[in-house]
Amino acid sequence: MTVSAGREFLAIPGPTTMPDEVLAAMHRPAIDIYAGPLLDITEAILIGVGRLLHSARRPYIYIANGHGAWEAALTNVLSKGDKVLVLDSGRFAVGWGSVAAGLGCEVEVLPGEWHRAVRPAEVEARLAKDKRGEIKAVLVVQIDTASGVVNDIPAISRAIKAARHDALFMVDAVASLGCMPFEMDAWGVDVAMAASQKGLMTPPGLSFVAANARARKAHETAGLRTPYWDWTAREGQEHYRKYAGTAPEHLLFGQHKALEMIFAEGFGAIFERHRLLAGTVQRAVEVWAEAGALSFSVAAPAERSNTVTAVRFDGAGPGSDAAALLDYCNQRCGVVLGRALGDLSGKGFRIAHMGHVNAPMVLGTLGVVEVALGALGIPHGKGGVSAAAEWLGRQVKA
Ligand SMILES: *Cc1c(COP(=O)(O)O)cnc(C)c1O
Repeated sequence: MTVSAGREFLAIPGPTTMPDEVLAAMHRPAIDIYAGPLLDITEAILIGVGRLLHSARRPYIYIANGHGAWEAALTNVLSKGDKVLVLDSGRFAVGWGSVAAGLGCEVEVLPGEWHRAVRPAEVEARLAKDKRGEIKAVLVVQIDTASGVVNDIPAISRAIKAARHDALFMVDAVASLGCMPFEMDAWGVDVAMAASQKGLMTPPGLSFVAANARARKAHETAGLRTPYWDWTAREGQEHYRKYAGTAPEHLLFGQHKALEMIFAEGFGAIFERHRLLAGTVQRAVEVWAEAGALSFSVAAPAERSNTVTAVRFDGAGPGSDAAALLDYCNQRCGVVLGRALGDLSGKGFRIAHMGHVNAPMVLGTLGVVEVALGALGIPHGKGGVSAAAEWLGRQVKA
């Protein structure tokens, strides 16, 4: 028996649920790429993403997923043999570091742990030891989508300043942009990158890289530059240069609509919605965890992100079979949960709450997880969903 007929709900951290308005905006014929509305749409997207990043300079736009933007960011400011310091807090900064290694950079990972955020004091201590300034860039993610950790980007920036180090500060905001504050200029971020398919509510395939004046200066002598990713080549006046070729029109139609929706809701309202829905998920997990079979991946509540919650199964026996839970939720109940990655692979699951999400989506997902925990005999504290509902009701006043 299943209860999955109807619209499947995707609770994975990217690609995320797309608004019907975004889907509808893409359902139209192709248009001229040399003149007319497409030029305005590009302009609006670049201004819009710049506003989201709080960056005075226009970002560069790529027809690529996040991995492409990683490569774009690195190749525009670094040279072969340059040393980069990767601040580990899960999987994604390390992944970005692997791309740097593949490009011929020397990569040092400042070890972290899956259950906690990057410690700014450790960053300061490591940079202070680099007396000769060998480290050219520091790579970090704002939210690590695998561990569910949120890093304190302004605090890490202050740590770099406190060490009097002039490495470029490069931040991955793929899983956070449009869901929580990002202040590129105020925080002293030199290079930021993001992609379309998470908080930006658009299909995968568009990504953005923003650079401040310091990064643009480093670009002038960067040895890893290649024709396709190159910023200078993309600064030409003609519209097609921004894409190094044909514009991905339909992705742009979608992204343009999604940004309109983001600005109509307003930053304050969006960030608060994410905070409330994350709190709702966390309340349920707290209760389920009381039976000892599962727990939060991230130990300190303040270091749990507002966009994705990673849950780990502890120990053997019932409750250690993540695949059974994922299958049950998907096949029996029509909810697709995120599988655990990296260190937690096969040992947990993730619930995404980023982008186009609201109370019924989140409470419905929590309800399905609770159904699955019961049906599979996984020990869990009772009443997680009702505790979550009660918590949300206290926050969202009548
Ligand atoms: C999803 C994600 C990426 C990678 O994006 P792709 O589009 O899959 O290449 C990079 N960083 C973070 C933090 C992510 O969540």
